[in-house]
Amino acid sequence: MFCVTSDPQRRVADFLDANDLHAPPAYRLLDLASEVGELAADATNSTAYGSTPENLDVNRDELGDTLFCLYALAEELGVDAEAAVDESLAKYESRIDDSGDPGSGVPEK
Ligand SMILES: [Mg+2]
Repeated sequence: MFCVTSDPQRRVADFLDANDLHAPPAYRLLDLASEVGELAADATNSTAYGSTPENLDVNRDELGDTLFCLYALAEELGVDAEAAVDESLAKYESRIDDSGDPGSGVPEK
């Protein structure tokens, strides 16, 4: 039985516990890649391979699947997803402060 909480990683972890669904991180990473691929398929289909980007439409259910897999991966790796996002946002904010751009500074090809 999972608890009611607003912390999505905790909710996913409780679901994995309750349903005996823990898996090695490598499996979770492949599952995540598969779900991202499903989002890409939605994008491919809705935009005619990118030729009409204004028509982009991704399935909310697939976005949810992807988030589930991402939180499951974080859980299996022992990473606090919220802390990781906080670190990422701080990195981007620092880059914007330093250069005005959140990118890593890698030149475009
Ligand atoms: Mg899916």
